[in-house]
Amino acid sequence: MARKTLIDGELEKFNQVEVHYDFDLFVIGAGSGGVRAARFSAQFGAKVEICELPFHPISSEVIGGVGGTCVIRGCVPKKILVYGASFGPELEDARNYGWELNEKIDFNWKKLLHKKTEEILRLNGVYKRLLSNAGVKLYEGEGKVVGPNEVEVTQLDGTKICYSAKHILIATGSRAQRPSIPGQEFGITSDEALSLEDLPKHVVILGAGYIAVEFASIWRGMGSTVDLFFRKELPLRGFDDEMRAVVARNLEGRGINLHPRTNLTELVKMNEGIKVRTDHGEEIRADAVLFAAGRVPNTKRLNLEPVGVELDKTGAVKVDEYSRTNIPSIWAIGDVTNRMNLTPVALMEGTYFAKTVFGGQPSKPDYGNIPCAVFCIPPLSVVGLSEEQAMEQAKGDVLVFTSTFNPMKNTISGRQEKTIMKLLVDAETDKVLGASMCGPDAPEIMQGIAIALKCGATKEQFDITVGIHPSAAEEFVTMRSVTRHLTKPKTNL
Ligand code: NDP
Repeated sequence: MARKTLIDGELEKFNQVEVHYDFDLFVIGAGSGGVRAARFSAQFGAKVEICELPFHPISSEVIGGVGGTCVIRGCVPKKILVYGASFGPELEDARNYGWELNEKIDFNWKKLLHKKTEEILRLNGVYKRLLSNAGVKLYEGEGKVVGPNEVEVTQLDGTKICYSAKHILIATGSRAQRPSIPGQEFGITSDEALSLEDLPKHVVILGAGYIAVEFASIWRGMGSTVDLFFRKELPLRGFDDEMRAVVARNLEGRGINLHPRTNLTELVKMNEGIKVRTDHGEEIRADAVLFAAGRVPNTKRLNLEPVGVELDKTGAVKVDEYSRTNIPSIWAIGDVTNRMNLTPVALMEGTYFAKTVFGGQPSKPDYGNIPCAVFCIPPLSVVGLSEEQAMEQAKGDVLVFTSTFNPMKNTISGRQEKTIMKLLVDAETDKVLGASMCGPDAPEIMQGIAIALKCGATKEQFDITVGIHPSAAEEFVTMRSVTRHLTKPKTNL
């Protein structure tokens, strides 16, 4: 097998040590990052094995399944539910377009759930085939590191088998965390929320990150009453403040009850439903309570610290820029490293791992200008810096361009919901530092804008680009006047 250059030649020497191992690479965790790293390493000629727990479509007891969180209990099923939830409001909007919807329109949650599970099972099969087509051996069981080059796999019947590998890759992702409040066991996390037997009529959600606002939109779109409780003034901490305010306004506009600066203190099981108490002394009865209060890296059962692998205080595996831990033969990618917890980032890290270790091309992932989207309804999508980050990081002044408009579709449907777009420009260099959009199709539009930012586009280059008419996207190339000129305070050096 060809293994040429590596990090300053050090890895090359490491790989040349003549010791017999069962595999060149053993991957623990067959989610997005693990599958990508395994396949690409195999394509570079490595002998690869991967282990993952079998997928149980209904039980939330077993976490696992080839495809990982994104495919089995994250991005993919969530997006299916977002599509499902979007039809209700769209059917309402259709009336002014001449559609007569005289009969009562019913939503059948069980049917959607069944279709969603079928699709997830199909994708689970696709991912397994991707692995076998690449020559990667799949072991269905729970992996644990027992030495710098040894992994023990426990099968479902309890049998344990030990394998040796020149390199071990940890790609076990993360899991939802629950707040430590009395009665927390009566709440659910996004894992169960994706497979609830019945559509809850009234839902309480704790948190205001991606998962909280996405599920709020899903359930509200399906007709449920939704109460969203969060600690801050606005949802989506870390995003541009102006866009956070727009998302809050839109969620309220769609009928979601927002409870900022409020936390849950207790859950009490009742004959019917759950009583929820808040730190403002409120009591609400709900059919389901969703904890969307962040996720923690999946490292607890991996035996990493006894083997000497360093973890940070959140339990995440500490890695260098090449995704290597302090133990030279052990590497980690994806959410388990708690760097930027997004599927495409795990894919990037998996690709670069394979190139570095088996492709002879040491490569560090580039975390600049990574676009992302929150699939609330309507969605928010951003790339580059927020206004607050731009003011912190830009050398000079920052020009803010915004466009707020009624999407053409709304002019006929009558929906009162504005789309907002925003560009942040370095006043000195004219470089576009950040772009955001909240409105229909924002993620589809932002992917193209991300390419422009990755190429270092200037505002002038945006301006000379011809728009597509009539579209919302054309606003990104027609924002002519500065909305705000933010002056950087002069510092005396
Ligand atoms: P986030 O980290 O996005 O948000 C966590 C939320 O929970 C915040 O609002 C936080 O509040 C709140 N919170 C945390 N601890 C507590 C507590 N003890 N009591 C009350 N509130 C609390 O987590 P998510 O669970 O929404 O998502 C996890 C990760 O998954 C994200 O980081 C994201 O990267 C990824 N993801 C990406 C998606 C996408 O790309 N579309 C979709 C879903 C998930 P505060 O702000 O006050 O700290």
